[in-house]
Amino acid sequence: LTPVPSDIEISRAQTPKPVDQLAEEIGLLPEELEAYGRSKAKVRLSLLDRLHKQPDGKYVLVAGITPTPLGEGKSTVTIGLVQALSAHLKLNSFACLRQPSQGPTFGVKGGAAGGGYAQVIPMEERFYFHWDHLNSQCVPLHYRNTANNLVAAAIDARMLHEATQSDKALFNRLVPSVNGVRRFSPIQISRLRRLGINKIDPASLTPQEVSTFVRLDLDPSKITWQRVVDTNDRFLRKITVGQASTEKGQIRETGFDIAVASEIMAILALADSLVDMKNRLARMVVGTSRSGQPVTAEDLGVSGALAVLMKDAIKPTLMQTLEGTPVFVHAGPFANIAHGNSSVLADKLALKLVGRDGFVVTEAGFGADIGMEKFFNIKCRASGLRPNVVVLVGTVRALKMHGGGPNVSAGAPLPKEYIDENLSLVAGGCHSNLRKQIQIAQLFGVPVVVALNVFKTDTQAEIDLVCQIAKECGASDAVPCHHWAQGGRGSLELAQAVNEAASRPSHFKFLYNIEMPIVEKIRTIAQQVYGADDIELSPEAKAKIDYYNQQGYGSLPICMAKTHLSLSHMPDKKGVPTGFVLPIRDVRASIGAGFIFPLVGTMSTMPGLPTRPCFYDIDLDPVTEEITGLF
Ligand code: ADP
Repeated sequence: LTPVPSDIEISRAQTPKPVDQLAEEIGLLPEELEAYGRSKAKVRLSLLDRLHKQPDGKYVLVAGITPTPLGEGKSTVTIGLVQALSAHLKLNSFACLRQPSQGPTFGVKGGAAGGGYAQVIPMEERFYFHWDHLNSQCVPLHYRNTANNLVAAAIDARMLHEATQSDKALFNRLVPSVNGVRRFSPIQISRLRRLGINKIDPASLTPQEVSTFVRLDLDPSKITWQRVVDTNDRFLRKITVGQASTEKGQIRETGFDIAVASEIMAILALADSLVDMKNRLARMVVGTSRSGQPVTAEDLGVSGALAVLMKDAIKPTLMQTLEGTPVFVHAGPFANIAHGNSSVLADKLALKLVGRDGFVVTEAGFGADIGMEKFFNIKCRASGLRPNVVVLVGTVRALKMHGGGPNVSAGAPLPKEYIDENLSLVAGGCHSNLRKQIQIAQLFGVPVVVALNVFKTDTQAEIDLVCQIAKECGASDAVPCHHWAQGGRGSLELAQAVNEAASRPSHFKFLYNIEMPIVEKIRTIAQQVYGADDIELSPEAKAKIDYYNQQGYGSLPICMAKTHLSLSHMPDKKGVPTGFVLPIRDVRASIGAGFIFPLVGTMSTMPGLPTRPCFYDIDLDPVTEEITGLF
């Protein structure tokens, strides 16, 4: 329809096919499905065993140029592309998307599951994902928050109990006598082994061993675990806990992260089986003891309970596009403050389901410098999967911004330059940011197809110019996409270009050797990907890196927490900033997820709300119960 109706109107005008019908069409057995309502279902991991001999399909990563704060349409391109591949080229295809977070939905940008005629339906169900626990069990975000905050509660409670009880009293409570017999739990036996105490009879521990066993002796100033909430609530960045008199003076400063930055979210996205997830949860380091030893979730005794909380969340959720093709919505780490990719398991299941000639299109958050770099260096290392093609999404509006156009902000009308034709701004953006992002993708040796997501204000001359320069910059192809206004048929050219690029050999390689020192890995990303002259480590960052090396964490990949609004650490520097030194303020370690996590510049793990958040537009008609303002 012209003009294109709102996302919610489009979604409501289409009745999704029943999820069991969709499942049958894609080759799932009824026993592999756990339906939640009529249009979504969890898919059991036993599917991987059944199909383990089936060859994988082709693997396509959708990344982007440095975006405006409005988003340039990676999710939309992902959906448009699978709609074109499936419904129009008749090739099996699957989209793998992250689960939307309430932070951006209520904060700055839209629903993160496509838009226009390229979206996941029903829209309300993907939007309300996190609240579904009220009526179903289909709720990764809710369980992740609960699991994360259970660890935080366990830390503070343990410190209180250790501070107020003798070794003996602690031991008697931690290893209670049942019918006159004390027994260690499996988690406790595992801790004892790590402490070098190979005894299973509680009565045989010496007083010294009892003390070592019961006292985690966490250093309150070295606790790295934070609580999480899924709202952009900047006033929780730094808080003080334990102020009630019942906490007996156990007051300490801590803070909240946005839920999508939680290590548990990253683990969910990187685990490749339930066993792997359980082991990763047990390994999570929450802080350091006063003697400098790492303290893990297993030491706290909480890792089994975490696995129970997460056992359903690990199954990807099957939904569908507007044109009835399958989508997995699973896990939702942000790309700027986490590793920014949907789950390894969703991709693996989908690659088996589509078969050798089919396509799985998975999306990495924000610009290629962020989501794509982490996709290759972190996710591909964890999964062992290698993509055949990178689709790099750009828009005329973002290119104009990189070419020197005025700033674009959410909620404000677009300046005139973005509405009228302006070929010199477009060319400036292509020769700077687009060229650099193509080069970044090429560092990994995978063919790059540029997808220009066309908006109604773009002119033919602007579209032609972008495609021409993109090819000159080394893209194997560059095509305009009209999926937002036309659905799958608007992305046919992209589907053909991707099909063609996937038939060429890919010479994939990692950016850095995992055994390089932590500092060198950070420097390699800063110089080769961001274009920095060098890095500068704060004293705190240096000390942490020394400690992580000592603990044997030196051979983990790096997950930079950096603004997504610039290739540099300065959000207002567009195009390709040069002549800067990248400041590393702090470094954290996510041992369960398996990466070192440097914090760049002022990057915060808890975003704030803008002056006019999206919630101003969201409303409910109490008579018809119609929701307005979702887009
Ligand atoms: P990203 O995944 O890159 O963050 P999205 O695909 O979520 O971006 O798109 C951001 C917003 O822009 C969504 O609300 C989407 O509906 C809208 N959008 C995307 N492409 C177009 C287009 N071609 N025309 C109009 N709106 C679009």
